[in-house]
Amino acid sequence: MHKIDLELVEMTLDVMKYTIGRISSTNHKIGKPKKAEELKALVGETITNEGIGGEVAFNLWKKHLMKANVPVDHPRNLAFVPAAPTRAAIMFDLVTSASSIHGAYWMEGAGGIFCEIEAMRWMVSLTGLPEGAFGVFTSGGTAANLSAIVAARENWRSLDDQNKVEKGLIITSIGAHSSIKAMAKVADIDVVLVDTEDRLEGEALQNSIKNLTAHERKRLFAVVGTGGTTNAGIIDDLFAIGTICENENLWFHVDAAYGGGALVADSVRHLFNGIEMADSITIDPHKWMFSPYDCGAVIYKKPELAKKAHSQEGSYLDIFKDEGAHGFNPTDYQIQLTRRVRGLPLWFSLAMHGTDRYKQAVERGLELAQIAGALIEKMPHVELVRDPSLSCVLYRRIGWKPEDYTHWTYENHKKGFALVAPTKWKTGDSFETVSRFCFINPDTTEKDIQLILESMV
Ligand SMILES: *Cc1c(COP(=O)(O)O)cnc(C)c1O
Repeated sequence: MHKIDLELVEMTLDVMKYTIGRISSTNHKIGKPKKAEELKALVGETITNEGIGGEVAFNLWKKHLMKANVPVDHPRNLAFVPAAPTRAAIMFDLVTSASSIHGAYWMEGAGGIFCEIEAMRWMVSLTGLPEGAFGVFTSGGTAANLSAIVAARENWRSLDDQNKVEKGLIITSIGAHSSIKAMAKVADIDVVLVDTEDRLEGEALQNSIKNLTAHERKRLFAVVGTGGTTNAGIIDDLFAIGTICENENLWFHVDAAYGGGALVADSVRHLFNGIEMADSITIDPHKWMFSPYDCGAVIYKKPELAKKAHSQEGSYLDIFKDEGAHGFNPTDYQIQLTRRVRGLPLWFSLAMHGTDRYKQAVERGLELAQIAGALIEKMPHVELVRDPSLSCVLYRRIGWKPEDYTHWTYENHKKGFALVAPTKWKTGDSFETVSRFCFINPDTTEKDIQLILESMV
């Protein structure tokens, strides 16, 4: 395996050349998926007894397979939550792979974990959480939300023997991300949804608690507020929710997987007031902190509570806990044991560029949303559904039916021009299909936005 032969050297050079080409290209194509049978017909058998050779396999990747992906960092990819990892972070992702670091325990991964801690300290400082708060990097927001919910539930169970035999219950709003419901299912927890896609306010939450039966109230242990809904960028009234949680003795989780990056932006930081009251917070560096996939994070006000829930026991693990006790063991604070040091690319990029550059890049995303809003107001064929919130813009093409939006999305995608996907917005009892922009990439231009809007005429 470790014999350095000529083929391997050439392979390494090819890979580096490809990588450098890809990250320095300013006009890479928006690829599109093909059916699995079509891809199979193009590439043939790739896994054989003898191997097809690196050059052949790599050429298949470049010629066919790579093109069947939609790059999330394309400046006209404004669908879902796109991404824009820095070149520094991407290059250091390669270093992370090459270094073969086991990121579970300090004993094995001290150097890498040290860097993660440096980056995490900055993230924690953005939240305003009190001294002692800390977090770990996860595979994404879903894993972070699950880790936080399980920590909350285990804490609740430890408070009262009766809770150990009860099924837990949490409250959130319908604006919350789908992963909250999905992870509640994994943890076997019931979810009560406050019926608003708009900002979750204290009054609605208080009413929702009041409407629970006595038994449900006993089972209620946490409230999840959203720090930037994925659909519309709406930040719940975190201060009011935090205050209610404090009074009602409930765990307060803030899901800021998408919006958390905006904590660095002075222009919108006040919208997150109250986040410092949270017991746990999810932030995805792979969304708005310019990290490559995958990198999420969960931060706890009291990390020791997470440790009680997540620390794994096993005789073969004792050695790590003895020697490793001299340092921080990320495995103890989330659901994964073996883990990549996912925070390492973020650390390098932060160290290289400085945090001011992150501030500027996030502010640019916010500004692009305002620019889009102004363009939409000027153009007669489109109108805003609501004012831009964080970097999300919901707007309608006047006169269009749902199928018109779908058709337009596919046409633009087919041409390799842009990827902008429709979504639904709920008002009262009705759902309206609308168009949506989400800006992350600071390289998106006003011209890009204008061209996209003009393609709807
Ligand atoms: C994207 C998102 C998630 C899920 O995060 P993944 O990294 O995709 O697992 C959770 N919550 C919110 C608010 C999100 O925007």
